[in-house]
Amino acid sequence: MQNYDVIVVGAGPGGTTVASLLANSGKKVLLIDKNQKPGGRMMTINRDGFSYELFPINCVPQHDSLFEKLSQTLGKENHVKLILGDDFGIGKLFYENREGEITSWQMGLKFPGVLKMFGFIGVKPWQLRSIFQIARVVGKLRAMDETEISALYNVSAMEYLDSLGPMPAGFRTFMLASFGEGAFEMTSDRVAAGEMVRMFQETFSGSGGRYYEGGVGHFFEVMAQTVEEKGGKVRMNARVESINTWDGSVCGITTQTGETYTAPVVISNAGIRQTVLKLVGEDKFETDYVERIKSLESNLACVGYRYFTSRPVLTSPMMVLFPEGCVAKYSEFEAIAHGEAKPENGYIYLGTTSLYPNMAPVDKQVVYAVVSCLPALHVESKPCLEYIEKGVRKIAPELYEPDVITHTEIMTTAIVPSVGNDAILPGQGGESYGIANSIGQAGPHRPKGDTPISGLYIVGNDTEGFGLGTHQAVDSGFKVYEKVVAWLDN
Ligand SMILES: Cc1cc2nc3c(=O)[nH]c(=O)nc-3n(C[C@H](O)[C@H](O)[C@H](O)COP(=O)(O)OP(=O)(O)OC[C@H]3O[C@@H](n4cnc5c(N)ncnc54)[C@H](O)[C@@H]3O)c2cc1C
Repeated sequence: MQNYDVIVVGAGPGGTTVASLLANSGKKVLLIDKNQKPGGRMMTINRDGFSYELFPINCVPQHDSLFEKLSQTLGKENHVKLILGDDFGIGKLFYENREGEITSWQMGLKFPGVLKMFGFIGVKPWQLRSIFQIARVVGKLRAMDETEISALYNVSAMEYLDSLGPMPAGFRTFMLASFGEGAFEMTSDRVAAGEMVRMFQETFSGSGGRYYEGGVGHFFEVMAQTVEEKGGKVRMNARVESINTWDGSVCGITTQTGETYTAPVVISNAGIRQTVLKLVGEDKFETDYVERIKSLESNLACVGYRYFTSRPVLTSPMMVLFPEGCVAKYSEFEAIAHGEAKPENGYIYLGTTSLYPNMAPVDKQVVYAVVSCLPALHVESKPCLEYIEKGVRKIAPELYEPDVITHTEIMTTAIVPSVGNDAILPGQGGESYGIANSIGQAGPHRPKGDTPISGLYIVGNDTEGFGLGTHQAVDSGFKVYEKVVAWLDN
């Protein structure tokens, strides 16, 4: 039995953030995870000279991110090397209209390159009415204040955008695919409009495209070092079997191998549903709370390829192919999952982190090509894989030239729980982030980091935070840190 001030279960981006901040403020912290090293779903793999994450990654925002706030707070800003999209190209977007014509745009908000966005979404310079419609919507969304945004949490991104009047089809597709489904990995008929507007504003001011030399997972490995430097312990390769309570308060954890650790505070990064229903046990909570937890919906997952190549193929870290009208509703993903429809209308993400320094052997790349799907563990991936290959041939045909691909790995939903959180509910497990930023569970309705059990907190994508993927998890880490410090100091 070993005693700590705080135990953090899970060293994903959220868990590592809160654990390192608490250690830095003088608390004796145990950070424990089932994986070999910190990073969670974004753990960096080092193999055959490649450093890469299992899944495609693009960090948003580029500037003024909470990652920098974290590294600076911990005094670790010189131990990690920030890579900016401005230096490597943020990404290239491709738009395919219904006639099969493809236009592209090298992303960037600088003048005059930003004007090329109009051509990319099929708007010609003389189509002044279309340009005016776009300017009106952009102006409106950019100018919205917090009060106006807060009023948009009971309407979906799709419904809200469609209520703003006519706009070019390409612009509608771009907005919903980028700031709805693309950012939140959830169909835009479910994502809360307030989240879309906030993401639009954040991307407009902070821009997209950020990475770290050594990998995003490596960033969290470096932050986690703070725990031991300040007298705590980082325990990897240890699965937590239960979070223990006594008389309505949390008191510690027990691992799968029977080790027990005690603390007055346990912060779980293992997912809100997994924590309540499995690690603590639903019998420890009021029925209403359990029902609310069970009713939370997951965000989408990804299926696709990881290609290892014999020569450099991509010249941009991110390439996205948007077919016109690729703003699927949730029911369309359900139809695909049930074999009632084919995935012929989704956007395809093609990307690599091998362009960044020291991430791959010279002239080689690891390339991700994915589409979204439902998060169930046994999604039939063949139709999605065929659809991906067809799309990639349109924007990067050189990938399929002879002898370019040396090795192919299939990415399925079933891989996600091996590095992330457990699959414990039907239709759940492969989700990219956790619970969706959808109506009823985003913004003011997002589950809180504190729970009905005294001393028990939940951190990561499932609670409190805002942002795209890892950024949301780090935001949650900062917010839960504030709550825990306040609780301990009382
Ligand atoms: C396909 C895909 C694409 C993505 N693309 C992006 C992107 O482009 N940009 C972006 O920012 N984000 C992206 N993400 C999301 C990103 O990975 C998550 O937002 C982030 O990892 C969530 O952090 P977290 O702290 O909430 O939890 P996680 O990363 O899930 O970490 C949870 C940790 O808890 C540990 N754990 C769970 N249960 C136990 C237990 N019982 N005992 C011990 N340890 C346990 C796990 O091992 C894990 O380390 C993507 C994810 C996927 C899967």
